[in-house]
Amino acid sequence: MRKLSAGLVAVGLTLSLAACGQSANGAGDGPAKGDAKGGLVGIAMPTKSSERWINDGTNMVKEFQGKGYKTDLQYGDNVVENQVSQVENMITKGAKLLVIAAIDGSSLTNVLQRAADAHIPVISYDRLIRGTRNVDYYATFDNYKVGVLQGGYIVDKLGLKDGKGPFNIELFAGSPDDNNATFFFNGAMSVLKPYLDEKKLVVQSGQTAFNQAATLRWDGGLAQSRMDNLLSKSYTAARVDAVLSPYDGISIGIISSLKGVGYGTGKSLPVVTGQDGELASVKSIIAGEQTQTVYKDTRQLAKAAVQMGDALLTGGKPEVNDTTQYDNGAKTVPAQLLQPVSVDKDNYQKVLVDSGQYTADQLK
Ligand code: BGC
Repeated sequence: MRKLSAGLVAVGLTLSLAACGQSANGAGDGPAKGDAKGGLVGIAMPTKSSERWINDGTNMVKEFQGKGYKTDLQYGDNVVENQVSQVENMITKGAKLLVIAAIDGSSLTNVLQRAADAHIPVISYDRLIRGTRNVDYYATFDNYKVGVLQGGYIVDKLGLKDGKGPFNIELFAGSPDDNNATFFFNGAMSVLKPYLDEKKLVVQSGQTAFNQAATLRWDGGLAQSRMDNLLSKSYTAARVDAVLSPYDGISIGIISSLKGVGYGTGKSLPVVTGQDGELASVKSIIAGEQTQTVYKDTRQLAKAAVQMGDALLTGGKPEVNDTTQYDNGAKTVPAQLLQPVSVDKDNYQKVLVDSGQYTADQLK
């Protein structure tokens, strides 16, 4: 019996080593060290409709090429099947490493099995790939903290800690197929919930569940229609004082809707949060419309992913600082979490201009 279980353990170990893409470090029939260094890196990004992913892609190409790798950068146009076939092509072209920001975090299981069979290590970029063991590392920001910064901003701006209120708030969340969306929402709710419980914050529409607040594919147009509905059903008499928005593209949609019924002219706009520090939103903040955004320096994220990838391919050690939070349903993926920063009218100059993210001219 003992012998049998020892044998099983040995088999299990071999299988799990293979699943971890260990062969990328030179073992088995995977790429040998020297072979992988300078090889092709497949970079699969979700969409060009948001600036941040354009920057992520370009930054990674620059960084990987700087280290002597070749790159294949593809955008999936927010269509899951496109992304799956783009990753398939990368495998066929002989990629030595895949870096993927998933459109739908749970749709890559089959294609990543092919990657594992070909001993190609996989880095999950910004968004966690779910439901498969065939993902080696995760480079992202502290996603829960993003939500805490958004919720915390609303609390501060409304003066809730000073006992002000009650205020009306509406809640928006990101795409339900993106693992980050729940982290953002839960982070924000961790701060807002006590005030909701005390009725210092009131959601007049009653839509407080993640699924009611979610916005498929982070679509600003969808968010705008939902806001139109909320305003016409629940705010003919009442005023909305704050809107939790998880992403700048959604914030812009919400603000258009609000302006459509007179906010920003007759009555002041509510506090509206956001994320990414996209150019249109930073301009909107300067113009006094959007109130806040959460900036994530994608130049740093690109660097973190490239460090991980280069280490994986050369027998080095990928840097990680979180080994507990990101359970993808099949394994806990070791992650490197970077820090997000809350930005508003008072600090955009320092955070976004002085850091070289934007020039002063771009913001005019
Ligand atoms: C990213 C956010 C982004 C959102 C929409 C999320 O996965 O973490 O930075 O705003 O997708 O693109």
